[in-house]
Amino acid sequence: MKKIGKNKQSFDLYELTESECKNLFAKQQACLKNTYPHKGKGGYSSAVMTVLGHIYEGASYESDTQSLTMHGEAVAFTHANLHGESEVIAITGPNCHICKQLIWESSLRSKIDIIVVIREEGKIKQIPISDLMPYPWPEIK
Ligand SMILES: [Zn+2]
Repeated sequence: MKKIGKNKQSFDLYELTESECKNLFAKQQACLKNTYPHKGKGGYSSAVMTVLGHIYEGASYESDTQSLTMHGEAVAFTHANLHGESEVIAITGPNCHICKQLIWESSLRSKIDIIVVIREEGKIKQIPISDLMPYPWPEIK
């Protein structure tokens, strides 16, 4: 991973190597077995990479109320934070819109334009969260 400059809001912008992207996906896939209560037979997982290059996974934890369900992304952010690492530079995607908001807010706090890493038609794409939030709330002041 390397810093490749600043975005238009002057947030740091990073790029992962293909190998780092594949490692992020591998950790995310391996974490699917930890979804609750499905144990791999449902639910979602995610993985984040921090500015130190460490990867933390998260698995969804469902509630019958649905509104109390924790998405894999939120759990991955929490997992990183429990290790004292709140500066995330990349996360696996695609993500639901609730999680895009969470990623966006983390980006605002860290001043890092978090990269959403997705697979599309067999290719890996790295998309800055700012590109996925055309009319964001809160706005950047
Ligand atoms: Zn979500």
